[in-house]
Amino acid sequence: MAEHEHEHIRVAVVGAGFGGLGAAVRLRREGITDFVVLERAGSVGGTWRDNSYPGCACDVPSHLYSFSFAPHPEWPRSFSGQEHIRAYLEHVTDVFGLRPHIRFDSEVKRMLWDPERLRWDIETSSGSFSADVVVSATGPLSDPKTPDIPGLDTFPGKVFHSARWDHDHDLRGKRVAMVGTGASAIQIVPSVQPLVSRLTLFQRTPPWVLPRLDRAIGGAERAVHRALPFTTRLRRGLLWGVRELQVQAFTKHPGELGFVERLAKRNMARAIKDPALRARLTPDYRIGCKRILLSSTYYPALAQPNVEVVDGGLSEVRGSTVVAADGTEAEVDVIVFGTGFHVTDMPIAERVVGVEGKTLAETWTGGMEALRGASAAGFPNFMTLIGPNTGLGNSSMILMIESQLNYLADYLRQLDVLGGRVALDARRSAVRVWNHRVQERMKRTVWNTGGCTSWYLDAGGRNTTVWPGTTGEFRRATRRVDLAEYAILRAPSGKKTAGTRNTADTRNTADTRNTAQDTTAPGATVRGATVRDTATQGAAAQGTTEVSA
Ligand SMILES: Cc1cc2nc3c(=O)[nH]c(=O)nc-3n(C[C@H](O)[C@H](O)[C@H](O)COP(=O)(O)OP(=O)(O)OC[C@H]3O[C@@H](n4cnc5c(N)ncnc54)[C@H](O)[C@@H]3O)c2cc1C
Repeated sequence: MAEHEHEHIRVAVVGAGFGGLGAAVRLRREGITDFVVLERAGSVGGTWRDNSYPGCACDVPSHLYSFSFAPHPEWPRSFSGQEHIRAYLEHVTDVFGLRPHIRFDSEVKRMLWDPERLRWDIETSSGSFSADVVVSATGPLSDPKTPDIPGLDTFPGKVFHSARWDHDHDLRGKRVAMVGTGASAIQIVPSVQPLVSRLTLFQRTPPWVLPRLDRAIGGAERAVHRALPFTTRLRRGLLWGVRELQVQAFTKHPGELGFVERLAKRNMARAIKDPALRARLTPDYRIGCKRILLSSTYYPALAQPNVEVVDGGLSEVRGSTVVAADGTEAEVDVIVFGTGFHVTDMPIAERVVGVEGKTLAETWTGGMEALRGASAAGFPNFMTLIGPNTGLGNSSMILMIESQLNYLADYLRQLDVLGGRVALDARRSAVRVWNHRVQERMKRTVWNTGGCTSWYLDAGGRNTTVWPGTTGEFRRATRRVDLAEYAILRAPSGKKTAGTRNTADTRNTADTRNTAQDTTAPGATVRGATVRDTATQGAAAQGTTEVSA
């Protein structure tokens, strides 16, 4: 029997990237210590552990791409590299005392809602748990996507994805095929071009690329940030404010982005002198429709004699010959896929089984949707960080994560106030209303009108990934949980919850809710929600009592 079998905890966080670690800090700050962070890998960092390809760095300035509660005066560059961001997350883990909570090498295989006990049964590679609340922080760009290329299995050389870089494989003097021209590829190309004998870049769609205003942050500047912490906050505030002002152009007035297109074209023209190549590298869609990329070294690398850009993407592999959609062939030793991630089909969704016995993936066959980016109907006490429509085109995802952590904290407070064995299940109507508003706003955005297909869109062409507003608007929308948007489920009184232990608690905070009296009597009001004994959304069928608004 596995070590953690039957262990019951209040909150199970899945994933130890920015989201999961942020959740852990927030839980501790709320006085909650009865939680674990389940991480499939052997260390923290998420994206910033897994993506170690040459040139990997953030494309939002570090002083904004970091936690507001853990400002870091020591950022060495305005856009810091992967190793510094990973070190920052290790540092946050230590400073906030998170390690005792983290279960490494614990891949979540399945999470099943128990309607009688109102809790999640969680199977992991290191044992089984149950938890009152699950916070899924498995990341939007966590599981690499490699296209199914005919003949790939006949390739005798090395093949890897940018997010699983093989550092044991020396690229010096090799003929390399780089597949894709997204955010990772444009960082890899200038980093490997000087090493390799030949680089063949398979471009399906050219990206818009603006200059990257990266620079080293000198010792004096760092000393000022250290001595005067308000300067770090001020810097962050300015970086944030500028990006908030840009949002209108993306969401309401894409026409205004013409000026940015001219900047991008100038960035290209400075390095690419061949008009034919320039034409092939010029996108035919509005800037911003796909993620705007930042690089001052990508185009200079493409102009080098050992680089060839081929159009149409990689369509076939015949032994060591790679064949592009336009028929171009090249002999290569290595194929690197910079082809992105499972974003609109997040793998964790296949492992979560909700109230109706359906997986989250089955519930989302028509597209992902969740109330305020967090709660899907039929999945009580299950919250997704960076869930549907919480992504950003131009600013830091940490802002969105922190907003969702406010929501999580209030969610847990609400459960406490309600008392007893209780769960909140997002009402379908509330999810629909939220999603309808999001999709209505989406209609005018550059992501939907800019004339491109991008990873923001799902298989049905719906944008289920990006937030069509400012981060400030999202912050306000997630400040509090509105109980009217949730069905409140209660376990029938006297339901036994034996066979559980509270071993995850690292402080003296026994799970009092297992013994607490149900203080929410019918007719009472809990922050605007009137308590009734009606049952919907399968609650009655499951023998639970709903307390509704
Ligand atoms: C190369 C790259 C550059 C980026 N640059 C930026 C940037 O500049 N600015 C920006 O805002 N965003 C950027 N992003 C987006 C980035 O994904 C988010 O900013 C952020 O790091 C997401 O954090 P997360 O914790 O939600 O997910 P992740 O960092 O992906 O962490 C998820 C964790 O969950 C774990 N996990 C997944 N499934 C399971 C399971 N079944 N069981 C247990 N554990 C599991 C994973 O191992 C991982 O550790 C970038 C992404 C990439 C890939």
